Amino acid sequence: MERTPFLNASRTTLEWVGEYLTESEPTPVASQARPGELRAALPDSPPVEGETWDSIWSDFQNLILPGITHWQSPNFFAYFPANGCPISVLGEILSTALGVNGMLWATSPAATELETHVLDWLVEMLGLPEAFRGQGVIQDSASSASLLAMLCARERLLGPEGVETGLTYSDRPITVYTSTEAHSSILKAAAILGIGRQNVRFIETDDRYALLPSALEAAIVRDLESGCRPALISATCGTTSSMAFDPLEPIAEIADRHELMLHVDAAMAGSSLVCPEFRDWSRGLERADSFTFNPHKWMMAHFDCNAFFVRDPKLLTRTLSVTPEYLHTDQEEVIDYRDWQIPLGRRFRSLKLWFVLRHYGVEGIRARIRNHVALAGWFADQIREDPRFELAAPPALCLVCFRLRGNDTLNRQLLQTLNASGELFLSHTALADRFVLRMSIGQTRTQRPHVEKAWRQITQTAEAILAKQTPDQSP
Ligand code: PLP
Repeated sequence: MERTPFLNASRTTLEWVGEYLTESEPTPVASQARPGELRAALPDSPPVEGETWDSIWSDFQNLILPGITHWQSPNFFAYFPANGCPISVLGEILSTALGVNGMLWATSPAATELETHVLDWLVEMLGLPEAFRGQGVIQDSASSASLLAMLCARERLLGPEGVETGLTYSDRPITVYTSTEAHSSILKAAAILGIGRQNVRFIETDDRYALLPSALEAAIVRDLESGCRPALISATCGTTSSMAFDPLEPIAEIADRHELMLHVDAAMAGSSLVCPEFRDWSRGLERADSFTFNPHKWMMAHFDCNAFFVRDPKLLTRTLSVTPEYLHTDQEEVIDYRDWQIPLGRRFRSLKLWFVLRHYGVEGIRARIRNHVALAGWFADQIREDPRFELAAPPALCLVCFRLRGNDTLNRQLLQTLNASGELFLSHTALADRFVLRMSIGQTRTQRPHVEKAWRQITQTAEAILAKQTPDQSP
């Protein structure tokens, strides 16, 4: 594309993006596309001759957007958010335009040094342990970070030999420990690393869905007695289902006593540490070997942007550093981030995070997080005051898990009807074997009127469902 048509197309695109991220409230929030619908609308073969920008843009509008779920909508209350903001988009545009591959310090020194520096800013902003200073790296996702934490534990247990010979002693399996509420990425990591799914010990939780230290201790002792080799405890701070917090201090005691590594997965809740009043849950974090959270969930840096801190990066580089001649450089006292991750190539992700931190400042980020927490508090109060509903777990930070009093069928119907309306989008989970709706409030633009509107719609939909209820559907 030549300069002038490119600039014209960019103007159209940026105007659209500006409107999309600051004003629009697109509906339906959750795409109502049917499986196969987009593919059926696309030509079977690629165009032989290049097409005009106008036709590409028109197909983006007419074919692609209907298949989009609007994660950036202020009416998006599902899962955990992947929130973003306009300045983060500008960082992404520049990073994409530069198109650098920051695999080595030498392949773009700024990409490496900005990343280390911005992650040090996060250490200060979040009050993270000083041991993590200079030891941060951006990964694509919390899943990758947790996998790498497990890799470090495997490396520490087996030593360099493990990397050379592979996993041996299958009669003495490596075991890892996490709660029944941990994210599925822990199980996936164990499968990928050859530890084996069956060697993940899912430790029971208390009535607040937080890991029970006494059960953890018992499981480790049992495994040691039967010849297993315990390697890692993965604690979750802010579980996916209900935002429960595993108690780090007693867990760290256990990790120390048995010489296990301790990883802390705070994918969503990590951002809350920017507010000093939300730091209680992090007591004990100073004893962790690694910590991960997603600025792409609750700190407005567009997906993907996961922050991962390790106390001893040598455990990573011992496994991940493979240096053929074509990757050799003469710089010694530098970080080559290719040795801190699985792929070789890497995007310049810190640019958008740097833009976000500079644009909002620490106080601006705190204000948004406090607002979400206050809105969740308001929503939880509505549930408490309405006898038709009940809380399904203690509300925490920006998440409220709730149910209509009644059976799962009613609650499934409530969720389906709400989401089919297109006005908002919620998701669900299971807690204590019951179907539960999750109200997760973390979108950058979500304000009180959006949450009030959601509550009105929830109550009206519930009323309609309850009114139609037949006697055999009652609780
Ligand atoms: N860990 C926790 C506690 C999560 O809640 C999530 C996702 O919501 C993840 C890990 C996975 O995050 P990612 O999509 O970055 O891999």
